[in-house]
Amino acid sequence: MTPESRLQVGVDVPWVTSWSEEPMTGVAPCPSVDGVLAVGQVERPGVGRPLYSRNHLFRQRKSVREMLCPMCGKPTANDDRWSQTGHWTTAGAVRAKNMGVWIPPDMADSHRLFDSGAIAPLHRACADRALMYCPHLKGMADRELKAFPDAWLIATLTVEARPQAVYSNLPIRSVPAVTFLQLIGVPDYDG
Ligand SMILES: [Zn+2]
Repeated sequence: MTPESRLQVGVDVPWVTSWSEEPMTGVAPCPSVDGVLAVGQVERPGVGRPLYSRNHLFRQRKSVREMLCPMCGKPTANDDRWSQTGHWTTAGAVRAKNMGVWIPPDMADSHRLFDSGAIAPLHRACADRALMYCPHLKGMADRELKAFPDAWLIATLTVEARPQAVYSNLPIRSVPAVTFLQLIGVPDYDG
């Protein structure tokens, strides 16, 4: 049996981080995306060792859908959402990248959007703490914390999954399964 780590989830290791004892489980309807097919992962945070470069699939989707701070896992409020890793872009640039995000058709290409990537915004206190301890964040040229807008869009990243149909000789169609969610902040939108 793999021992519990002495590192504490949400304190020493971000809540959203994967652990070595959390293997992927395959494709199934997932409550984190309202029952849509998604790639699953065992939930055993704090067991084994943290895999800092890998977000946990279920916790990542939950963090974006429910605006939970990736560091501590608790909800963030409108006036306390901060991002160091995100950057400003435009609706036109996002449309050009065809990221699968639904941007209202009446939004001008010049409208500013905040590309948060796969990382939901953090509490101010958690962002400060992450910057103090995380070598990756410390090494970034841009250490400025940006305030995350009060409105946002969510895009899904998917993989083509092939359902197992062992006793069927019908052709098997592959279906899209959600992996991670992408988050885009929308400032000044009253459409
Ligand atoms: Zn937090």
